[in-house]
Amino acid sequence: MLHPFPHEPRGETPLVEFRGVTCGYGGTTALVDVSVSIWEGEFVGLLGPSGAGKTTFLRAILGAVEIYRGQVLVEGRPHHRGRAPAGYVPQVETVDWNFPVTVEQVVLMGFAGRGWLPWAGREERERARAVMERLGIAHLAGRHIRALSGGQQQRAFLARALVSSPRLLLLDEPTAGVDIKTRDDILHLLHELNHDGTTIVLTTHEINAVAAHLPRVICINQRVVADGPPAQVFTPEVMSRTYGAPMTVVHHEGLVLVAERPHRYYEEHLARSRAREGDGDA
Ligand code: ADP
Repeated sequence: MLHPFPHEPRGETPLVEFRGVTCGYGGTTALVDVSVSIWEGEFVGLLGPSGAGKTTFLRAILGAVEIYRGQVLVEGRPHHRGRAPAGYVPQVETVDWNFPVTVEQVVLMGFAGRGWLPWAGREERERARAVMERLGIAHLAGRHIRALSGGQQQRAFLARALVSSPRLLLLDEPTAGVDIKTRDDILHLLHELNHDGTTIVLTTHEINAVAAHLPRVICINQRVVADGPPAQVFTPEVMSRTYGAPMTVVHHEGLVLVAERPHRYYEEHLARSRAREGDGDA
């Protein structure tokens, strides 16, 4: 690993600590020997190819995977079943949209932890309304969740996670399937929440548009490949090891841009065209 401890120990307990964690499902390992500390107030992005274990990382914090080795500690304590240690925003694609439920009902589920309580009290409804207003979806409260755009659905699930004012917010691909403007709005909102003190961990496939703008990224491919600020972590070597494919890293006016290297076929095609152009010049 390149940067085993990017954040100096602060003499306090990490909010989340993975100690040599190997975990998975039904005896099959998804993450191997992961040791990571996340401190209060951080904003962390998890990067890696599909199947790398990013969702599993979030689920391990929630206590929803089998731990084969090591320990996951939240606020210094092993996870206790039944006590949700964090607000969780699932991947929109994993949600069953046939479930007949309105935006307000989705948001009120955030109080119950699991399942909607039809007897939500007045205080809870007011809190839900305040959060929906902050996220710009209050006018959609009575709308069926299925009748919303991707960005609005994302916000409804974010509102559900936020009603209980969690110290820690876990988001699985919060910008997948939304347009550029909505993606930037969601990121802006998350930065604001982080600024207000919420610790945030998200997974993303968007290296340049999302991960490059976060203070800390963790590259995962079953194991932690690298951990640190994007400027240090985004090297051709780390990115290639993370994605298992050649990657090019370009530094341009303070920006780091990561690109998949063209396939060999394309490179050969380019080389042939250049050679032809060279012939023409001569
Ligand atoms: P990512 O989020 O990076 O795409 P995941 O954490 O979803 O990766 O998956 C990591 C590995 O665990 C994959 O091999 C996946 O097939 C497996 N996996 C994920 N969820 C389950 C599950 N509920 N049951 C069995 N295997 C699972």
